[in-house]
Formats: sequence, structure tokens, C-alpha cells
Amino acid sequence: MELFPSDRQGALQRLEEFVQSGAAAYSRTRNFVKAGHGNVSRLSAALRHRLLSEEEVIAAVLAAHRFSAVEKFVQEVVWRTYWKGWLEQRPGVWTDYLRQASSPDPDAAADVLGAAASAGAMSRFTEELRATGYMHNHARMWWAAWWCHQHGLPWAAGARFFFDHLIDADAASNTLGWRWVAGLQTPGKTYITRRDNLQKYWEGVESLEGIEDHVRARIPAETADRSRHPLPDYPDVPPVPAGAVALVGHADDLSIETTPLGTVRPGAVALIGQHAETDSPVKRAWRSRAMEDAAARWTAHYGKGVSRLPRWEALPAWLGETGCGTVVLMAPFVGPDADAWRPVRQTLLDKGIHVAECRRAWDQRLFPAARAGFFPFWHKARPAFSAGN
Ligand SMILES: Cc1cc2nc3c(=O)[nH]c(=O)nc-3n(C[C@H](O)[C@H](O)[C@H](O)COP(=O)(O)OP(=O)(O)OC[C@H]3O[C@@H](n4cnc5c(N)ncnc54)[C@H](O)[C@@H]3O)c2cc1C
Repeated sequence: MELFPSDRQGALQRLEEFVQSGAAAYSRTRNFVKAGHGNVSRLSAALRHRLLSEEEVIAAVLAAHRFSAVEKFVQEVVWRTYWKGWLEQRPGVWTDYLRQASSPDPDAAADVLGAAASAGAMSRFTEELRATGYMHNHARMWWAAWWCHQHGLPWAAGARFFFDHLIDADAASNTLGWRWVAGLQTPGKTYITRRDNLQKYWEGVESLEGIEDHVRARIPAETADRSRHPLPDYPDVPPVPAGAVALVGHADDLSIETTPLGTVRPGAVALIGQHAETDSPVKRAWRSRAMEDAAARWTAHYGKGVSRLPRWEALPAWLGETGCGTVVLMAPFVGPDADAWRPVRQTLLDKGIHVAECRRAWDQRLFPAARAGFFPFWHKARPAFSAGN
């Protein structure tokens, strides 16, 4: 089995394996960084692309364990939802990241990256990220804090390096994870890498070279517009008018057949697989495998061949060929797909095409509560999982 499953069947198997042999010990062992990462689920790329949904992962864990025994794991999965709901309501923070990530101090950042890749404690994680597209959560925190506070480098340049390489690269978890470490996300809170922490949590610690103790936090000035925008009122089930319907899928949700879109009888189906120029070969290859898997599942489910479109801009021409007057899709989340979709959506509307977007009930229910900090959010979400457990 793949270390980071890139198809739904493999992800379901990994989930089952984790439920049986990892979930019960997770709260004790999850912070340890060790070869193979057998103490964590390694499902983040599958979750980020929704080969699996958060709901089914949590349901599988709770079917086998008491809530109190797996609360920490459930909470981590819900962190993902919290970050997504938070960014959906504050798109200015993503725009600020994009602006900063395209104008970092390139020489200083490249020097540090070069040093990290060739020597020192963090080189081990840099190499792993480049080779596999994965880094353990604790290593992400060490790496990001070392970058931001020890070297005083622009957080967005580091976040961009992660985003280009991570197979689970997610606009919300990556941007907000970096902002949290940098000290921007939760004012008064930051994270500093310490030698004793590496020594304790890095099993078989390979090197402490280049890690300084007594590093002071260097918190950058806030430049993002954090004002809150109302969430669009998407339905769970899209109102699909009569006539030929085109179903459009994309990397933010690769299991649409498990959503209310599973009952749509489309005239045509497309899958948009847009890569960024800066995406690493490992990240591209993982996503391509996940898309292959989605296309095969959708072909079987909808009884239609799936057209593979390399970019969102190809959608209007494809739609013209299909003769469909309605497009149905899961609304992309704040991030690269939504950025590319927005102008295309306008083009379709201008042509008189009907556009029906929807969201999973999970997102509809939880996103509005992602307003203040995580713990008020968790307080609201928790009873749905802990009831009767
Ligand atoms: C600087 C930084 C950048 C990050 N960038 C990303 C990213 O681009 N994409 C991404 O999915 N995660 C990101 N994370 C969160 C976290 O590191 C990964 O989700 C986790 O390491 C994935 O491994 P796993 O699937 O084995 O997690 P597990 O420990 O098994 O956790 C289960 C699931 O919970 C979710 N989760 C766990 N920890 C977090 C967290 N801290 N924040 C949000 N969700 C979490 C993930 O979906 C994960 O698959 C980032 C964290 C930091 C500190």
C-alpha cells in the first residue's frame, strides 16, 4: 500500500488500518516524529482532496472506539474544518498570502533553503518533503518556526515552499498554520523551535545542527485584511433545472459521487486538473494519480466518460461542445481552484449558462461557527461526536 494513499480504495484501507492499530494510541504518540510515520494516519492528502470526507473518517473511528479514547484525533480532523471555515470567511488573508508569496526576499530565502537542504537538522525534513511531499506536523512546526524566528525570513516565502511541495497542500491549513507559527494568526501566541523539544520528540534524532536555543520571536507586521465576509448561501442539494446538465469536478472534492451530486444524471462530466507551474513533480504525480482514480470512479458511477480538462479556462469551450445549458459543481474553497473558477463562472453566466454550486452538509453546518478561536468552535462541534459515547 502507498505510504500516502492516492486513491479512494487505498485511503479507505488506510483508514481501517488506522482505526484498528493507530487510533487508540494517537493522543499519546502523535507528536513523535519517526520514520514511516506509523503513529499518525497519513490521510491528510486524501482528506484535502476529499478522496475521503472528514465525516466518514470520524464516523469510522467512532464506530470502533469510545469518543473519550479518540477525542484528540477527532479534534485534529475538526481543526482542518475550522481552518477552512475561517478562511472562507476571511478571503483577504489568502489574498495577502498570494501577494507576499509572489514578492518575498528571494535571495535570503533561497540561501536558507539551500543551507537547509544540504546540512543541519532541518535538512532531513526538507529532503523528505521534496522526496515524498509529506512532513510530520511537529516537523512542520519546527521547520516553520526555525524559518520565521531563528532566521527572520518572510513567513509567506516558507509557506510557498511548503505549498509547492506538499501533497496535502491546502490554502487554509498551510496559510493559517504558517501564520500561527509566525505569531500572526492568534495574537500573543507563537511557536519557537527548541533543541530539547527536538531531542524528546524526534525518534533517533539525527542532528541538532543549526538549531539555536533562546531564540526570540520575530513577529511580522500584520498586512492582511482580516475582515469577515458573509458565507455564500450554498444549498446542500443543488437545484438542477430540466435539460442537459454538465457535472464538473475538481481537486477540492474528488468523491462527488458520495455527495448529493451522486444522484445527478449528467449529460456530460468533466474533471479539471489544474496544476500550478511551481508545483513539484511529486505533488503533480500524486494529484494525477488521485484524478485518475476519480475519473475511473465517476465513469462507473455516472455511466459517462469523463473529459479531463487541464485548466478551468478550458471549461466554456468544452461546455459549448456538450450543448449543456447547466453546470453543476461543488463550490471550490478559497484557494487556487476558486481563484481560477471565479472569472470562468462569470464568463458562463454572461453566456446565459445556469450555474448551480453546492457544498457538503458538513461544511454548511460547521463553517459558520469558525469565527473566533478554535476552542469556541470545538465547543459547538463536539456534542455531535460525543453524544452517547
Ligand atoms: C506550518 C504548517 C503547515 C501545514 N500545512 C498543511 C497543509 O497544507 N495541508 C494540510 O492538510 N495540513 C497542513 N498542516 C497540518 C498538519 O501538519 C497536517 O494535516 C498533518 O501533519 C497531516 O498528517 P496526518 O494526515 O498523518 O495527520 P494526523 O495527525 O493523522 O491527523 C488527522 C487529520 O487531521 C487533520 N489535521 C491534523 N493536524 C492538523 C492541523 N494542525 N491543522 C489542520 N488540520 C490538521 C488533517 O486533515 C489530518 O489528515 C500544516 C501544519 C503546519 C504547522
